[in-house]
Formats: sequence, C-alpha cells, structure tokens
Amino acid sequence: MQEIVREPRRSRRHDKPIDVSFEFFPPKTPEMEANLWEAIARLAPLAPKFVSVTYGAGGSTRERTHATVSRILRETGVKPAAHLTCVGATRAEVDEVARAYWDVGVRHIVALRGDPLGGLGSAYVPAPGGYATSTDLVRGLRAIGDFEISVSAYPEKHPESASFDQDIDVLKAKIDAGATRAITQFFFDNEIYFRFLDRVRAAGIKIPIVPGITPVQNFRQTANFARKTGAGVPDWLAERFDGLDDDPQTRRLIAAAVAAEQVFDLLDRGVEQFHFYTMNRADLVYAICHLLGLRARAGEAAQASQSSVMS
Ligand SMILES: Cc1cc2nc3c(=O)[nH]c(=O)nc-3n(C[C@H](O)[C@H](O)[C@H](O)COP(=O)(O)OP(=O)(O)OC[C@H]3O[C@@H](n4cnc5c(N)ncnc54)[C@H](O)[C@@H]3O)c2cc1C
Repeated sequence: MQEIVREPRRSRRHDKPIDVSFEFFPPKTPEMEANLWEAIARLAPLAPKFVSVTYGAGGSTRERTHATVSRILRETGVKPAAHLTCVGATRAEVDEVARAYWDVGVRHIVALRGDPLGGLGSAYVPAPGGYATSTDLVRGLRAIGDFEISVSAYPEKHPESASFDQDIDVLKAKIDAGATRAITQFFFDNEIYFRFLDRVRAAGIKIPIVPGITPVQNFRQTANFARKTGAGVPDWLAERFDGLDDDPQTRRLIAAAVAAEQVFDLLDRGVEQFHFYTMNRADLVYAICHLLGLRARAGEAAQASQSSVMS
C-alpha cells in the first residue's frame, strides 16, 4: 500500500515574522471603557505593529478618540494610530486635531474621507471649507508632520465607486499624496482579496495592502453591517451560523474556526500582515493570533495590565 505523506501546512513552519494590528473604537460609557482596557491589556502583549482607534461618524468621537489614543501612547508600549475623517469639519478643524496628535507624540494616522453625513447611500458633500477627499486629507497631514499614513482599500469596491478602476485610481492618488499602507474593508472570501491584490499590483501599487479580518462576534450584526458597506456575505458563512441565534457558546467556537480558516489560507498564500477588527473584544482575536504563532511578551504584558488596573 502506498504510504501517505502528509506535508505540514506551510503556515506552521512559517519562519518570517507575522505583523498584526488591532482596531478598537472609543468607549462611550465607563463600562465600555473597562472592556476596552481589558481587551488592550490582553492583546498588547502580542506586540502588535500598531493598534488603531476609530473616529466616530461625522467626527462624533473627536475627544474620545484623542483621549483613547493618548492613553494608549502614555500607558502601553504599543504604538497607536488615530483614525481621522474629513466629515463635518473645516480643514482648519481637522488640521487642529492632527496637530494635537502630533504634539502628544502620535505619529500614525489612518486617513479617511468618512461616510456622508446623511448616512451610507446618500451623496457625500464636503463640509464648507473642509477636505473634499481622503487624498486631500493625506496631503494635508503630510504638510503637518511626518506622519505614517494608512488609508482604506475596498476589495469588493467602495459602494459609491462606479468601477474597480476608479477605486484603484483613488488608491493610487492616496499613495501619491503620501499614504504608505492600505488596510482593507473586511471580506470573507479570500479569492476576492487576491483578485483585488492582482489588480492593485498590476496598477503598479507596491505598498502593503493589509487584509482587514473581522471575527464574526455576532452574525446578524456583521451581515447587516456588511450589506451597508458593500462587503459580501457568502451563503456558506450564513450556513455555518444557521440555527445558532440562541447559542452564543457554539457561535463563538464557529467564529474562531471560520476566522482561523481564513487567516491560515491567507498565510499559506503569502500574507504576513493582518489587521483585526476587534470590536473591543480580545478573546477571539487573541486565539487567532495564538494560532498564527504569536505569543505574549512578558514586558508588554506587565505594562499593559498595569494600565488596565489603573483604568
Ligand atoms: C480600514 C478602514 C477604517 C475605517 N475607519 C473609519 C473611521 O474610523 N471612521 C469612519 O467614520 N469611517 C471609517 N471607515 C469607513 C470609511 O470612512 C467609509 O467607507 C467612507 O465611505 C469612505 O472613506 P474612505 O476614506 O475609506 O474612502 P475613499 O478612498 O476616500 O473613497 C470614498 C469614495 O470616494 C470616491 N473618491 C475618492 N476620491 C475621489 C476623487 N478625487 N474623485 C472622485 N471620486 C473620489 C471613491 O471612489 C469612493 O467611492 C473605515 C474604513 C476602512 C476600510
């Protein structure tokens, strides 16, 4: 009988370092704040390349984003990145936010246009005297300081874009203006990411296009959000969560399995940087990072858990 030789999966003997980054949102209540700092304390020891903090729709979290980012900078050993949008503010106001980041030592901005004030689906109208596009914002940030600037990318096309070509032209313009990394909208079908990557590379774009991974903490919520943002929800994904509405424990196991499958496939196909949309929860993301081979580093653990205790 022929002997079956099982090749170990490439991902398991991957000897190149893997970079991860984690995205959080600024908390609204003291309880949410405690959750966030617990999540940061758990994830910081994995030594992410950076952690980012989102900017609420219409700039609604301006102060809270700033406070969260500044505290990460002060109290953890992790580099923070502040999301910033153009919505509902003049250039001078946006510049002031950016300068305040520069002044406290924040050196990384995730620069975005933001959603229209009327919500997704309505037309985007720049604020009077405001930055009209994310490209303008990137250019403006460059004039303020030598920030590291990340921007968005949309493997399934931004919902307002007429074509993939338009999206890629916009991405190119953002890079020409000074962006050095793109983070993608989340996706569940890796083929979509690789097709997008082929298009991007064929257009001569060389910066990292870091896949945004969203562990499905809650299938219904994720599916609703995906519909709004133009991200596809494959039937097989719905099938996997089918019948589990009242069974959170099994849902979490399935979510971990789905995300692990996705990141292992990306890893096997050469991806070495991952951005996780954490929803301010650590467990699933921590487990997936563990599977990726990341292990907590003691120094960072001590620093981060100390800041969690102080919160
Ligand atoms: C990684 C990531 C992080 C995000 N973080 C936040 C956040 O913190 N806060 C928040 O409110 N939203 C956030 N978003 C959502 C984002 O703000 C929305 O998707 C928004 O609708 C688009 O902003 P953008 O910078 O991603 O897109 P852009 O790249 O600016 O594109 C938006 C649309 O404008 C078009 N466009 C751009 N420039 C031009 C031009 N010169 N001429 C014609 N058309 C143009 C594009 O084709 C596209 O259709 C994030 C998205 C991602 C992927």
